[in-house]
Amino acid sequence: MKILFLDQSGKLGGAELCLVDIAKPYGKNALVGLFADGDFRKLLEENKIPVDILTNQVIKVRKNSSFFQALGSLKQLTPLIFKVVQRAQNYDLIYANTQKALVVGALASFLSRRPLVYHLHDILSTEHFSQTNLRVAVTLINRFASLVIANSQASKIAFLQAGGKPNLIEVVYNGFDPQNYLTNELDTQKLRQNLGLEDKFIIGHFSRLSQWKGQHILIDALDKCPQNVVAILVGDALFGEHEYVKYLHQKVIKLGLENRVKFLGFRTDIPQLMTMCDLVAHTSIAPEPFGRVIVEGMLCGKPVIAANSGGAMELVEDGINGFLVTPEEPQELAQVINNCVQESAKIANIANNARITASERFDVKTINQQIQQLLKSLVIDNKHLQKRM
Ligand code: UDP
Repeated sequence: MKILFLDQSGKLGGAELCLVDIAKPYGKNALVGLFADGDFRKLLEENKIPVDILTNQVIKVRKNSSFFQALGSLKQLTPLIFKVVQRAQNYDLIYANTQKALVVGALASFLSRRPLVYHLHDILSTEHFSQTNLRVAVTLINRFASLVIANSQASKIAFLQAGGKPNLIEVVYNGFDPQNYLTNELDTQKLRQNLGLEDKFIIGHFSRLSQWKGQHILIDALDKCPQNVVAILVGDALFGEHEYVKYLHQKVIKLGLENRVKFLGFRTDIPQLMTMCDLVAHTSIAPEPFGRVIVEGMLCGKPVIAANSGGAMELVEDGINGFLVTPEEPQELAQVINNCVQESAKIANIANNARITASERFDVKTINQQIQQLLKSLVIDNKHLQKRM
């Protein structure tokens, strides 16, 4: 089976990291077409996945664009669509991994008569998208997609509520290789030393810096914790949220937490950093579609405290393999953190359960088999259909 993957981003977000794991087993039978150059291209190349930068022009539609802005971008997209149609001749199906890839992939799939798969990594609701974007996405999916892979029940439910066709959608969680999260004890000790945090209780927050990821909630909670509790914020503003970054820095200064909050920027040593932490916090203030960082924290054998909404509720069982707290409630978050600081034996048990359940539920090999089965039956159906035409 030969697959043409499409993704709009050159940057490393959760959807892109997930795509690397899905495309890798196909090797030379995959091609990832990107609408921007960047670190994502480098990661694909490191993983020996063929990649093609299909355009260097910035596509001027955002998650909150109006109808006319969306319409205006169509002219800009036309050459890109034709490039994809050309590439698609050599592939069995088109696999769109992001919203702009869906727009291009939908029209290219129609013109090239290749089935379209859309991997839905988003909660299609007005908390995340403009009405126009929602309508365009659902209309294109219903009209052109043969299959939608949703990354959680939460994403599936939002899709159905937005008017998506129920017969198109299957839920497949993100997959992870548990081996990647087993790290060397010495390396993590060194990391702690280098950061000057040897004798601290470290909370890790691993997300791009963005208002809806709620780093400010963790900072507020930290202010209510003992002095030896510190936080590392790992991630960068990937999509221009520089005002929010400024606000976070100001907040840290205002609360006098300069020695207790470290901004580490974007990092590629996530397993090592997570293992170095005593706890991983997830604080999104809008429903998280999946929440890769939650599973990664579990695979590192860390207690994870997650905001109780969206996909996070499907990953964590409160008090069994992690903790769920009300979103946007720093007081409650601080209380759970303080319990974790005080009850190390109980917490170790919970973290151990987390590692076991996450290794079983999210094993990349099993997840990739599920996806492969779904894609195979699509390709077979399409070949039958083309023969009859
Ligand atoms: N991540 C990373 N470096 C960073 C911060 C985050 O590699 O500095 C990774 C993180 O390990 C996770 C992904 O980015 O795999 C984020 O995925 P998630 O589903 O949590 O959020 P998204 O970015 O998709 O909204």
